[in-house]
Amino acid sequence: MSAEPSADIALIGLAVMGQNLILNMNDHGWVVCAYNRTVDKVDNFLANEAKGTQVVGARSLQEMVAKLKKPRRVMMLVKAGAAVDAFIDQLVPLLEAGDIIIDGGNSEYHDTQRRCEALEKKGLYFIGSGVSGGEEGARHGPSLMPGGHIQAWPHIKDIFQCLMLHSCVQVFHQWNEGELDSFLIEITANILKFNDEDGVALVEKIRDAAGQKGTGKWTAISALDYGTPVTLIAESVFARCLSSMKDERVEASVLLSGPASSSYTGDRTAFVECLRQALYASKIVSYAQGFMLLREAATQFGWQLNYGGIALMWRGGCIIRSQFLGKIKEAFTKQPSLSNLLLDSFFVDAVRGAQEGWRQVVAQSVLLGVPTPALSSALAFYDGYRTDKLPANLIQAQRDYFGAHTYELLASPGKFHHTNWTGTGGNVAASTYMA
Ligand code: NAP
Repeated sequence: MSAEPSADIALIGLAVMGQNLILNMNDHGWVVCAYNRTVDKVDNFLANEAKGTQVVGARSLQEMVAKLKKPRRVMMLVKAGAAVDAFIDQLVPLLEAGDIIIDGGNSEYHDTQRRCEALEKKGLYFIGSGVSGGEEGARHGPSLMPGGHIQAWPHIKDIFQCLMLHSCVQVFHQWNEGELDSFLIEITANILKFNDEDGVALVEKIRDAAGQKGTGKWTAISALDYGTPVTLIAESVFARCLSSMKDERVEASVLLSGPASSSYTGDRTAFVECLRQALYASKIVSYAQGFMLLREAATQFGWQLNYGGIALMWRGGCIIRSQFLGKIKEAFTKQPSLSNLLLDSFFVDAVRGAQEGWRQVVAQSVLLGVPTPALSSALAFYDGYRTDKLPANLIQAQRDYFGAHTYELLASPGKFHHTNWTGTGGNVAASTYMA
């Protein structure tokens, strides 16, 4: 006779995120059944990292499913894309109505929507839940961002909430000091002081060609799709692309000239304060842009988003955790229909206080030939956003001149005109629409 199912949840994918999340769940008393495509990794995990815990393993998906209490909860932390679909295809015949599949990977949101729809037809619930915080977050308290079938929530709530609550009290609390405090600032400080065995800073030996796995790119693509200027993330993605052209850059560094000196000769202590201000203001712009994108996506898909709640969700464990997420929550609580964070009084004052240093840094970096794509694109956005009349009137005139694309007049928005600019063109206009 087979043993009674004993596992509360299964976790597929024993790479860094999966292993650490399993151990975290185990710490909270959940019995986790571990599985991995390369089955040897299950044995290794049980014999090493999970030794002495109540984690159980499975050497096949059938065995894994048989070990699960009902409704079955199966979480995947595998490479995003085809691997997720492959596991869903294998799981569907093994599960029954009411069972829940959770994708914890960095899946593209259209894939998550498609999977939700497909699994609903089979009576299964699907949750797409990014797990942020990297290895440390997964082990001690990640930020979990579940979305999908609401009917699954009562069955996963206890597991998800205890993992997240853990993060706020134990691991990250010492990082929550100072307005610029954030996870990335913390780890950057640690990285900069980390020396290799020969005493040289390890970061100096790392090849300056940044990789990426697609989340920034997807955000930038969505931003373009929805016509939302998420310039800072898009610029950061392009900066990584440029960095990865290492061989070409080395060649160009010999041929292309820049300013005579790239060393700053002014008051360094004062300039460090300017840098702090530039980083603070740029981060505010980046969050403001991110919330603009969320708002636009919510409009397009008819989502009811709790913006303040979203900010709080990122406050613990997430790699974008930042001290002022609490201020973002306050801003949306005060004014749920706030169109842009930059218009909230806290952020109006914060940017006012930081902008002098911000402008100094961007100006100096231009003069010294030091690329600062994120800081300068954030400032360009800020200046564009706060300008009531931009030179886009000239763009409209040019578009109408060369392609009869029409323009609106300040005096009559919504009404489109075409001008025969040369006297030799026709009076027929192109149709007017936004791509
Ligand atoms: P990963 O390197 O992204 O993926 C490795 C896991 O995926 C292994 O279990 C591997 O199985 C499995 N896998 C890969 N291709 C497969 C395929 N074609 N079919 C079945 N299984 C396949 O692992 P990770 O870094 O732990 O990340 C897991 C997920 O979390 C990813 O979506 C990642 O983007 C996301 N994430 C990662 C981090 C991070 O800091 N690493 C942070 C947040 C989110 P085998 O062992 O058999 O190869």
